Amino acid sequence: MYDVVTNLHSVLNKLPNGVRLIAISKYHPNEYIEAAYAEGQRVFGESQVQELSQKVETLPKDIEWHFIGHLQTNKVKYIVPYISMIEAVDSVKLLREIEKQAAKHDRVVNVLLELHIAQEESKYGFSFDDCRALLESGEWKKMPHVHISGLMMMASNVGDEAQIRKEMLSAADFFDEVKQKYFADDSAFKERSWGMSHDYQIAVQCRSTMVRIGTTIFGPRIY
Ligand SMILES: *Cc1c(COP(=O)(O)O)cnc(C)c1O
Repeated sequence: MYDVVTNLHSVLNKLPNGVRLIAISKYHPNEYIEAAYAEGQRVFGESQVQELSQKVETLPKDIEWHFIGHLQTNKVKYIVPYISMIEAVDSVKLLREIEKQAAKHDRVVNVLLELHIAQEESKYGFSFDDCRALLESGEWKKMPHVHISGLMMMASNVGDEAQIRKEMLSAADFFDEVKQKYFADDSAFKERSWGMSHDYQIAVQCRSTMVRIGTTIFGPRIY
């Protein structure tokens, strides 16, 4: 097995207080997750509904699962019964569907709004203006089964550290803006999810509260 235990501790040792690790286990087998679990890791992230559903059935029940991928509205119903956070909400339609399904299960599902800041067209997420419009509409306040806990983004996949830093800092500034305007009274709106294997050490300098790390812990994914 890839040296999950050593890698996990090496990552954890690099995280300052206040930054949580979401161990991204997509495309990795249960035994890798169990190895990290045995070391105390409880929060894992997955990006495929079917794969996650299979893992949930067999792995310990006290794992907190984060859904980190692009989520199709027709699949929300499968994960809502147990998901602890849906990180990449990228449309109002998706938010409405989460509310609808979570209501059926009498749950409150934590979500993050995904921002599209990176240069790549391929990435999902709200522009700053679309995110402002969503929050300004106030519709989310009438969704008692959805709790918006913060923001998530992926920086451009480039070697240019200054570019990555600039994008993450713009997300952090945007967080401050919406926090002040819409969530000043909500102490649970506090999450800034940015930083992956190649850029998490930049992210922790850019006010990240959650890093999503896969490859550095579990090795290359086998698709
Ligand atoms: C796969 C994935 C990660 C983890 O990427 P690594 O480079 O393996 O650390 C983080 N965030 C999202 C949204 C992902 O899809």
